[in-house]
Amino acid sequence: MNKRIVVTGGTKGIGRAIIEKFAANGFEIITCSRNNDDLEILKNKIEKRYNTKVYTKMLDISNNKEVNDFGAYVLSLGGADVLVNNAGVFIPGQVHEEEEGVLENMMNTNLYSAYHLTRKIIPEMMKRKNGHVFNICSTASIMPYVNGGSYCISKYALLGMTKVLREEMKIHDVKVTAIMPGATFTSSWEGADLPEDRFMKAEDVAESVYGAYHLSKSAVIEEIIMRPQLGDI
Ligand code: NAP
Repeated sequence: MNKRIVVTGGTKGIGRAIIEKFAANGFEIITCSRNNDDLEILKNKIEKRYNTKVYTKMLDISNNKEVNDFGAYVLSLGGADVLVNNAGVFIPGQVHEEEEGVLENMMNTNLYSAYHLTRKIIPEMMKRKNGHVFNICSTASIMPYVNGGSYCISKYALLGMTKVLREEMKIHDVKVTAIMPGATFTSSWEGADLPEDRFMKAEDVAESVYGAYHLSKSAVIEEIIMRPQLGDI
């Protein structure tokens, strides 16, 4: 049976690149986003290009009920070998002046989504004593910066969740990895007045995820920190 990967937010950017990489290596794909047209286009392209199966669900990952339903959908397909909690949003601002509700929005989207989806899917991995959870954190998980505001708060918290989950999963043979990319050229950076080659490519992040996945059972890469060659932007 083919291996299966769940990637949240798979229609663009880093999630999309991870899907391409794993599909090219024989994985079936389960993914979600808020835009059904984008999901349909992705499904058609990936299924044709890699001769694999792509399952999609339109949902808002910031909504707990929709996340739980998505988790149930994944289990109904037989669970997953790899879970990548990728979907996230970046709203720039400063803690002392950002709009009311920005923290809640980013905590829901960037942290609670990963928490609830992981809790739903990981028991099946534990039962099989096999599985790998990747949380797409950020250099903002370890380095606060002005205008990072609530994004930094949510990404620090996601790294915290990753670290405690790693401890919990040691005896269950489930691997847990935090990926911490710096500036990566995706739609998140649309409008930035900087040359594309000043950024990392989403494909570089995907290569790192696949490399960390592709180890023997006895080794876990706990954290990967990546930055553009010229450093942070
Ligand atoms: P992106 O290009 O904006 O893509 C985000 C993906 O997530 C899209 O498929 C988007 O589809 C989906 N998504 C966003 N909000 C969603 C929601 N509420 N419900 C369901 N799907 C949602 O983002 P990216 O730059 O690749 O970032 C991916 C992850 O990497 C994020 O967690 C981000 O914080 C992290 N990261 C990015 C960078 C960077 O420089 N790009 C650096 C460090 C970490 P829809 O909009 O159609 O829903």
